[in-house]
Amino acid sequence: MNKEDVKIILDAGHGGDDPGASGNGIIEKDLNLAITLYMYDRLMELGIPVKITRTTDETLSPTERVNRVMNAWGSDPNVILISNHINASANQNADGAEVIYALRNTDELPNLILQELQKEGQNIRYAYQRRLPSDPSKDYYFMQRNTNPIHSLTVEYGFLDSPGDDPTQLKNNYKLYAEAVIRALFEYLNIPYESVPGSGYYTVQSGDSLWSIAKKFNVTVDMLKAANNLTNNAITVGQVLKIPSPVEDPDTGDFLVYVVKSGDSLYKIAQSYGTTVQALMSYNNLNNTTLQVGQQILIPRKDINQEPSDTEEDIIYTVQSGDSLWSIANRYNTTVSELRNYNNLTSDVLQVGQQLKIPRGSTVTPPNDQVDTPIPSITYTVQSGDSLYKIANRYNTTVDAIMRANNLTSNLLQVGQVLVIPSSTTSSEIRYVVQNGDSLWKIANRYNTTVNAIKAKNNLTSDNLTIGQVLYI
Ligand SMILES: [Zn+2]
Repeated sequence: MNKEDVKIILDAGHGGDDPGASGNGIIEKDLNLAITLYMYDRLMELGIPVKITRTTDETLSPTERVNRVMNAWGSDPNVILISNHINASANQNADGAEVIYALRNTDELPNLILQELQKEGQNIRYAYQRRLPSDPSKDYYFMQRNTNPIHSLTVEYGFLDSPGDDPTQLKNNYKLYAEAVIRALFEYLNIPYESVPGSGYYTVQSGDSLWSIAKKFNVTVDMLKAANNLTNNAITVGQVLKIPSPVEDPDTGDFLVYVVKSGDSLYKIAQSYGTTVQALMSYNNLNNTTLQVGQQILIPRKDINQEPSDTEEDIIYTVQSGDSLWSIANRYNTTVSELRNYNNLTSDVLQVGQQLKIPRGSTVTPPNDQVDTPIPSITYTVQSGDSLYKIANRYNTTVDAIMRANNLTSNLLQVGQVLVIPSSTTSSEIRYVVQNGDSLWKIANRYNTTVNAIKAKNNLTSDNLTIGQVLYI
């Protein structure tokens, strides 16, 4: 088949004197026609050449029906016939959709149709071929047998006499099922499908990834994968994805959406929101703790609002040149003896770079001498794995500038070493996301700046922070 030359002929089964099956308030010929007219309108709208065997409640003999099919576009294997039917059965358990296809065709399109019908909540049975008992080289049904070389399918959307949910679904969802067949057709032909606005479907475009699509529709990658039965992140251009209902407004919903950043772990995220790894895993249906950058994690709001736990980190202060226990105690509204006890100090002598724990609850207000002073250079305490190059990069400066500012003669660093980051080159601001337990004072201290400076830079009118708030330092 040449997919660019494809043409469609739609057939509404039965009609006129032949009602087909009936029951549970459904007359087959009428529902067949409703489905067929819907598909006809959609294909016209989407610019696919389409014709139809009947548009009214007309009686068609098998010969007349086949003639209309063959005369629509000619005897051409690029023509696809979709004949629409509703099933009935003496079998008490019959429920779901089937597709019959010709012996000359493959099951590719039939299976795509079943897959799309399943996305609309219809049970699916199978795609099958049926042979004529008297001549097994021929198709059993005349719509396949007598339409060679046309690509011929019969879709049975469900059982109108099913004891299951088919009768209700057929009445309520027949348009969704008709649209499902259109989607399958477009997927099969690999041509761009335009969903009915608001229908909850999206066609993958060049450059899309599951992440970008998830972001666009305010859902998570995991939700997308679940809705489309995807087992990995591979998608192809032209693929049609079902878009699940968007997550709630992050400002009012039951959860926040957190986007995983480089260096994150579930443990870190759980800690910063005052929840647990277990809670996050179960809320997000994760079966392992591996995260990917850009992955969205839902943070249950009920957990975020819990009181900060006792296990919260201490404030750690890194001793600067010129510091004394007294000046530090003063800065944090605590006392020298409290600092001594809290850190098990045996002497009052401090070393630059030494880290002191500040007793919790002692950070009330910044002392006056910290207010409105110019922002000093940023200092940075070297961590394991750091290099001058990494630090320079992080602060948008150069290795040379840091070496000069610190009188370094080599680029070897030691963990705990305190570096001055030259302020002239720190033009690019630091972006800080407020964590559970943060205060302006704590943040100001961490970045060696002042509460007022942060407030001014971020146009804050109060000292209240909310978790997740972004501050520029
Ligand atoms: Zn029928």
